[in-house]
Amino acid sequence: MSTYSWLARQMLAPSLDLARGTHAMRSLAELETSQWWPLERIKQLQSKRLSYLMEHSWASVPYYRHLMEEQRLTPGDIRTAEDLLKLPPLTKDLIRNNFEDLVSTHFPRQELRRTTTGGSTGTPLVFFGTRDDQLSHGFARGMRSLEYAGFALGERRVLIRIARQHNSAKERFLHNLSRPVERLIEIDSRHISTHSLPDIVRLLRQPNMRLLGGYPSVVSFIASWIRETGANRPALDAVVTGGEQLFEHQRAAIRQVFGSEPYSKYACNEFFDIAMECREHNGMHVHAEDLIVEVVDDDGNPVPPGHTGRILITNLHNFGMPFIRYETGDSGSFVAGDCPCGRALPRLATVVGRRFDFIYTPSGRRIAGSGLGTNRLALLPVRQFQFVQEDLDLLIVRVVPRVDANAEDLESMRVCIPPLLNEIVGDDMTVRVQYVDRIELTAGGKHLLVISKIDPNSWLKRASTGTDQ
Ligand SMILES: [Zn+2]
Repeated sequence: MSTYSWLARQMLAPSLDLARGTHAMRSLAELETSQWWPLERIKQLQSKRLSYLMEHSWASVPYYRHLMEEQRLTPGDIRTAEDLLKLPPLTKDLIRNNFEDLVSTHFPRQELRRTTTGGSTGTPLVFFGTRDDQLSHGFARGMRSLEYAGFALGERRVLIRIARQHNSAKERFLHNLSRPVERLIEIDSRHISTHSLPDIVRLLRQPNMRLLGGYPSVVSFIASWIRETGANRPALDAVVTGGEQLFEHQRAAIRQVFGSEPYSKYACNEFFDIAMECREHNGMHVHAEDLIVEVVDDDGNPVPPGHTGRILITNLHNFGMPFIRYETGDSGSFVAGDCPCGRALPRLATVVGRRFDFIYTPSGRRIAGSGLGTNRLALLPVRQFQFVQEDLDLLIVRVVPRVDANAEDLESMRVCIPPLLNEIVGDDMTVRVQYVDRIELTAGGKHLLVISKIDPNSWLKRASTGTDQ
């Protein structure tokens, strides 16, 4: 540990906690210990926290009071993660329609932090969090994630993401206060372009720069640019990606350029860090002390490890606006067995993109973006690509060619890409290549691999023998 890291951990961060009235360092120390607990002990802690959350929700959150009364339940009926099955999932529509009733009456409104989710799931969602949940527990989870990648508080890192909106000057001030403690440089992902890349790579090459974090599409874009231009490679200890699914072709590009296997994490604005890969890179350990993550089928019943289902999350610390069995819109599966790293925290396998990131074929198949053979496209002189399903039988592959691709390359890709895709989606879809200068990001600053303009519900009706892939 460097002197600065020691200082950050022992002096600066505790002072920051004191100034903000938070307890991030205490929470981090607890998480550093509990990550090695046996599963049974972690579940006991979950149950204790869940019981408290249910009591609190019964007493001060009208939505849950009504819901439990309707279901003839009392807080005592929901003590363990398994008991959660008695409650229906909380969808974004339910949140919008019951917004006021979901806010706890225990908190003066001005004490709550108004937060929004990005636009990657379509319409943004507004909700309230507490300082305790976000600045203490959320921060601690984020830090523990980075520790999995060998990083320590106070070491230098660059984070590329959509810039956070602050509700007040005070919030912005507190946020900026923590930057020097963390020695974190934030870059707004919307400003990433071929013009800004030389400066960013120079920044990454600064002495003692340890870690780069960001969306996989952005980080792999930087990796591809370094590879193409032959720029000097930054000597980073670790690369951490999150906010989107990390595809195999992106992993390969990052590994090749930065010389190490990237760490994938699962995080979102609603919960901050949810799960993070350990050095085994075989699934992401859920931060299960703070969050109960369920994987369920379409009827809301749990599915066994290895089987994909909808991801529901309960936050055990947001007492301002409790999210119990929140429908994330993501799907994923648990990894079976023990992890050789020694942590008993459950592991999520790759979280498959948002639920609408699917191609729907005329023959009734639903294919996730990860199933479209993206690693084969990555072998071509391509910098970025995106699949757009314009119609049930028309798939456009938008391609940003590499700068060194010549006219012959372009013509050859125009010919060779469609059959590669037809092998996967079937011959009853027309596949066309469209060359573009850049792939537009969503309003939330994310890169979507798949955009389907097909309404899944009408497709379901048309496809009589639908199977998932
Ligand atoms: Zn592990």
